[in-house]
Amino acid sequence: MPLSRRCFMILAASVASSAVFSTESRADAPVLAESDPTAQALGYRMDAFKVDKTKFPRFQTGQTCANCQLYQGKSGSAMGPCPTYGGKLVNAKGWCNAYVKKA
Ligand code: SF4
Repeated sequence: MPLSRRCFMILAASVASSAVFSTESRADAPVLAESDPTAQALGYRMDAFKVDKTKFPRFQTGQTCANCQLYQGKSGSAMGPCPTYGGKLVNAKGWCNAYVKKA
């Protein structure tokens, strides 16, 4: 199922606004809250097991931030920056509807 137009627009704006900062270290970036409006729109959950599969049918078991193309955390890290959310830290075991399988 393709991303809705609303989700696409949120994602595009988020990635564009964060591109400026993409080369900076984000170790001290704030942690993304599930209550964040963009996170809610994209169904972000800190624990991928808690994804609402009815609302977000793109989710497939095994998909997590750690194996998402957009995840910028180091391998094995518990959290890492995500450009979808302006570089805020997302949980390596999390997931959202902007997931892109790592190549
Ligand atoms: Fe970011 Fe990908 Fe995790 Fe979504 S699934 S929060 S895009 S790293």
